[in-house]
Amino acid sequence: MAEERKKQLIEISGAGPAGLAAALAIARAGGRARVYERRDDVGARFHGDFQGLENWTTQADVLEELDEMGIAPEFERTPIHEVTCFGPGGIIARKVGSQQPLFYLVRRGSEAGTLDYSLKQQALAAGVEIRFGEALRKLPNGGIVTEGPHRADAIAAGYLFETDMADGVHAIVSGQLAGSGYAYLLICKGRGTLATCLFSDFHNERLYLERCVDFFTDQLGVRMHNPRRFGGTGNFALPKTARKRNILYAGEAAGFQDPLFGFGIRFAVLSGAAAGRAQLAGNLEQYESFWKHRLRDYYKTAACNRWFYERLGDRGYNRVLGLYPGGRDIRERMRRAYAPRLWKRAWYHLVAAKRHTPLLNPHADCDCTWCRCT
Ligand SMILES: Cc1cc2nc3c(=O)[nH]c(=O)nc-3n(C[C@H](O)[C@H](O)[C@H](O)COP(=O)(O)OP(=O)(O)OC[C@H]3O[C@@H](n4cnc5c(N)ncnc54)[C@H](O)[C@@H]3O)c2cc1C
Repeated sequence: MAEERKKQLIEISGAGPAGLAAALAIARAGGRARVYERRDDVGARFHGDFQGLENWTTQADVLEELDEMGIAPEFERTPIHEVTCFGPGGIIARKVGSQQPLFYLVRRGSEAGTLDYSLKQQALAAGVEIRFGEALRKLPNGGIVTEGPHRADAIAAGYLFETDMADGVHAIVSGQLAGSGYAYLLICKGRGTLATCLFSDFHNERLYLERCVDFFTDQLGVRMHNPRRFGGTGNFALPKTARKRNILYAGEAAGFQDPLFGFGIRFAVLSGAAAGRAQLAGNLEQYESFWKHRLRDYYKTAACNRWFYERLGDRGYNRVLGLYPGGRDIRERMRRAYAPRLWKRAWYHLVAAKRHTPLLNPHADCDCTWCRCT
């Protein structure tokens, strides 16, 4: 039976981190995977911008976790141990540090060196077939949907540029610069990304972004050469099930994202690889129990944290930053803040859950691959 399943082709819709991780998991276990990507290449929804591969939700390093999934870290990555955090108005600035990397700075896009390019190369080398420029309406034989976000619960807007500034990671929490979110300036080896990440008031995106440019120019003398605009959306939702008949949903297509700050890459890779393993084993319930065990409580905790974060306001941000004790390891603090807690689960159900409506309606009686019919 296991040998029979390995001969069957498993189709995957979407070649982001979730889809490529799923395909790699299948191929590494001896199965056959074909990925359909509607764009002409992987990572085409990004433009070489920096993103953070978070490394705080577990004690173990995220690169070890990738290794266990058969993903080699053959992409440019810079471990980040220190972040300068500004409070509203820049009145308070704190350097927060950690012994182990807080996250890895990676680039997203189609070019060599990006996370997406590396995953593509590894998948192709493992025998995965990728069909670019093809989008399927349906997966009639089952499979995995990893098509990324389908609605905007958060958006990011920013500039990519070249610069002669020193490397550094800077973030600001401020209602003036990012509606319910945060803004960041990432500089690494002559490249820069400056962006605002909004969780509300999307219509004023331009205004927020220009305020961010002014802020970082005043504070750090930011120098942008050849600036290019970029932007994107993210969605988060906690599904009741990530399965619809014989189709599994993974990554942001299922709503798996970090609802506090939008660090979704790790959830995408983890859920994609698990969906791939489950499809190959022909045991779809295995995937349901995986994400419910590994991701669900993190999601609820992060959603609960967001509820509190949104209520802090500028005064609260300044107070929290002002009280932050220097010398404390920020990675450990973040790990604890994201660690599932009974009271946060309860708070999520009582108060915070309303905003996190599922994307999937598994009971809808239609056969769209992506069901939003109801
Ligand atoms: C500007 C921005 C900054 C971000 N910063 C961070 C960060 O710092 N850290 C972090 O962890 N996360 C970050 N995220 C979130 C992160 O990028 C996503 O969570 C992650 O890429 C989700 O992976 P995915 O595979 O689920 O979806 P995606 O990466 O969106 O991949 C989905 C793929 O499916 C393709 N597709 C869509 N529809 C179809 C179809 N019908 N048929 C075939 N193909 C299809 C798309 O073209 C795309 O290539 C950021 C997001 C944005 C927009």
